[in-house]
Amino acid sequence: MYNPKSLRAEEFISHEEVLETLDYAGKNKTNAVLIDAILEKASQGKGLSHREAAVLLDCELEDKNQEIFALAKRIKQDFYGNRIVMFAPLYLSNYCVNGCLYCPYHRQNGHIARKKLSQEDIVREVTALQDMGHKRLALESGEHPLYSPIEYILESIQTIYSVKHKNGAIRRVNVNIAATTVEEYAQLKAAGIGTYILFQETYHKESYETLHPTGPKHDYAWHTEAMDRAMTGGVDDVGLGVLFGLELYRYEFAALLMHAEHLEAAHGVGPHTISMPRIRAADDIDPGQFTNGISDDTFAKITACIRIAVPYTGMIVSTRESQKCRERVLELGVSQISGGSRTSVGGYCEPEAAEDNSEQFEVSDHRSLDEVVSWLMELGHIPSFCTACYREGRVGDRFMALCKSGQIQNCCHPNALMTLKEYLLDYAAPKTRAMGDALIALEMGNIPNEKVRSLVEEHLNEIQSGSRDFRL
Ligand code: SF4
Ligand code: SF4
Repeated sequence: MYNPKSLRAEEFISHEEVLETLDYAGKNKTNAVLIDAILEKASQGKGLSHREAAVLLDCELEDKNQEIFALAKRIKQDFYGNRIVMFAPLYLSNYCVNGCLYCPYHRQNGHIARKKLSQEDIVREVTALQDMGHKRLALESGEHPLYSPIEYILESIQTIYSVKHKNGAIRRVNVNIAATTVEEYAQLKAAGIGTYILFQETYHKESYETLHPTGPKHDYAWHTEAMDRAMTGGVDDVGLGVLFGLELYRYEFAALLMHAEHLEAAHGVGPHTISMPRIRAADDIDPGQFTNGISDDTFAKITACIRIAVPYTGMIVSTRESQKCRERVLELGVSQISGGSRTSVGGYCEPEAAEDNSEQFEVSDHRSLDEVVSWLMELGHIPSFCTACYREGRVGDRFMALCKSGQIQNCCHPNALMTLKEYLLDYAAPKTRAMGDALIALEMGNIPNEKVRSLVEEHLNEIQSGSRDFRL
């Protein structure tokens, strides 16, 4: 029944295979010989199967767990260096026909403010986002045939790319909208989207159907096979994710990796990103009703094990998580974070009034983008506003080949320095600017290739003189 190459959800996310994996992992959680062998394989940076990774996740040997964390840190460093890519969500509309039990936008919620941004609103929101320094957005929208049809999403993408305020520009729009048809994915691709992101929420079919009692999202196969349709429609990069807290995390972990294996087996390209949201409090939603919440320690272990299992996949953590939690997982594998986020429809341009709340979930990290940028630098990371790959055509299998060989760092690191320089000049507070300039001077010494170093030096001078948008 289990078949990673199959295009049928129930075959590439086989329930029996997940259960057998969990059984295998549980039986081997103190098997030091096996765990050593898996760690040895993982140390080569070529990834692990879902079964192997599940054994590491279940490992109960303290010394081996420390090795798992150390290896995750090393792999993170080897593949991504110390750059952290920044993005912000932009909510277009919270009208939704679905009945998801964990989301305040569910159709039955009669007291949340329902909003949809007009194209004029989008210009204002994007201008505010550009004035913060953002270059990369994740577009979010509820599913509604009347309020947010594909034509509205496409027009919004066009509007976003067209806004050029002072030195600002949104250079990459990732899209997180409901599962759709091959034809509509092809339209999104033609509109110039970066990654298509769709959270599975839970891979457990029975729980999935209970948690999504009404609306098109109720159809497990339609939702789970969305990435296959997206890739058939020409979308090069897709982003997976589960909402931790809905189902047992071991189940989600194994199935998530099976999904990654499926994309690789069926399409030749694994997921571009994996997002790791945990359930949060929101209007009409009490996270206490979901009994599968995970602790910060478990969250850290999951992060480390995903990092080891799929070294070539970017990992995303949002402002759902606190500063303290983000600090921990940044070390263990996370390569992208949001900053200064608003999770309401509108709210960047002008804060929402309390009685007019349209927020999807409560944010834990309330700091401004500038505070997040300076905090990252204090921790030794390079905040990056890079969007180069998609714009240079390094997408899909081309991107994966560079990433798997570890060569992508030769682009990520210089691009991080150049885009940080733009941020420092155009948007940073004086203290952040001083810290950033010192960091750039220091990091220039870490560009190994002399030619690249002098090219970046040249571009940094040009940025200082007013030019923008250099990339490798
Ligand atoms: Fe709608 Fe998405 Fe919320 Fe479900 S999770 S109610 S589909 S916005
Ligand atoms: Fe991302 Fe590519 Fe830029 Fe690296 S060079 S940060 S992979 S866009």
